[in-house]
Amino acid sequence: TDLLNRVKQLDGDINSFITVTEEQALAQAKAADERRAAGNADAWTGVPIAHKDIFCTNGVLTTCGSKMLSNFEAPYDATVIENFNNAGAVSLGKLNMDEFAMGSSNESSFFGSVANPWDKERVPGGSSGGSAAAVAARLVPGATATDTGGSIRQPAALCGVTGLKPTYGRISRWGMIAYASSLDQAGTITRTAEDAALMMNVMAGFDAKDSTCVNEPVPDYTATLNNSIEGMTIGLPSEYFRDDLSADMQQAVRNAIGEYEKMGAKVKEISLPNAHLAIPAYYIIAPAECSANLSRMDGVRFGYRCEDPKDINDLYKRSRGEGFGNEVKRRIMVGAYALSAGFYDAYYKKAQQVRRLIKNDFSEALKEVDLIAGPVTPTPAFKRGEHTTDPVEMYLEDIFTIALNLAGMPGMSVPCGMVNNLPVGLQLIGNYFDEGRLLNAAHKFQ
Ligand code: GLN
Repeated sequence: TDLLNRVKQLDGDINSFITVTEEQALAQAKAADERRAAGNADAWTGVPIAHKDIFCTNGVLTTCGSKMLSNFEAPYDATVIENFNNAGAVSLGKLNMDEFAMGSSNESSFFGSVANPWDKERVPGGSSGGSAAAVAARLVPGATATDTGGSIRQPAALCGVTGLKPTYGRISRWGMIAYASSLDQAGTITRTAEDAALMMNVMAGFDAKDSTCVNEPVPDYTATLNNSIEGMTIGLPSEYFRDDLSADMQQAVRNAIGEYEKMGAKVKEISLPNAHLAIPAYYIIAPAECSANLSRMDGVRFGYRCEDPKDINDLYKRSRGEGFGNEVKRRIMVGAYALSAGFYDAYYKKAQQVRRLIKNDFSEALKEVDLIAGPVTPTPAFKRGEHTTDPVEMYLEDIFTIALNLAGMPGMSVPCGMVNNLPVGLQLIGNYFDEGRLLNAAHKFQ
């Protein structure tokens, strides 16, 4: 009840929640009390949480930040949601996000933009801006989120909280509304790495309902948090520390790396020679996949439908025309163009080839080092409205985060200091399924 009141009091100008599920939360809390009274409580009994509104929740509004789904109550729970419910967590509701997870500032949401709790004139980042803002404002200790092209790490950095994007396939995508299926990955936004480890223990694991979910054993992520990092090798990509990254940003990241050196880690310069190709490749692949995924939003089966359609074509056209926002339409058009006969080889196929080069860069680097470290964002949180007129400027916000999605490896954003009185993040990157080592390194720093 305290947290529900806190949401009511404080979320008015932050706008991190789209839906508060008060009744369900009170019922779950009561069940947790009963379990505790019966002596059956475990790590998650009664722990409050909230979910990005991209995860389907049975009988609860699931909007994906879009007018298109503004009336959609999902008929089933996503596997991630089911896991938290089964673990005994108490869900306070559904969190704001960029429409269909497309954006880096949470300004494309149909339900209004979200304020950064550190400075309400500024953006919280995106697309998981609601998740990051809710944790930063201490409305919930942890939130689910997704990262297709930086959407966990970037908002976590801008809001001064901890974000983990696990390996592609580590967590089931069942019931998570698809944006770009070969990149979409669920993960966590929390205050600390320890809390992220607790969330991972619930979220990670094989699920037969998602054919890309990998059947790898799930370790207890809390067990390795305190391992020594003496002798660990950390790689610094020269491409991530160029002159165009401000001295203040470089200093914040280098201070953090200095702390690791004090703890006995070794630092080595590495190179990711194709990383600069990540933004152009991503902004072909992701729109291409989204143009296919969003074709299911047709005004027929679920979601928004225009009024008085004349015929089936009018129904499709107007439902989609009225239901989708501008950024979503832009991506559908780019994607449909890139996939069209005659252009497929020049764009989509080329982008997939570049993707392989980027993946190989990370794999080569991770043969030499245990972890890679760098900045998460080029700057601290920018002003609301600052990048809304030029989509390319907004896309450049993802410059340090997007390459990793193309490679599929896990990455974290860990708060590492302040620049201009605003929080910034250190990015840590590890090899496939090495989330335990990432959490260990993040925990040692915190
Ligand atoms: N900024 C990225 C985009 O707009 C974020 C995507 C994501 O990770 N969901 O596509």
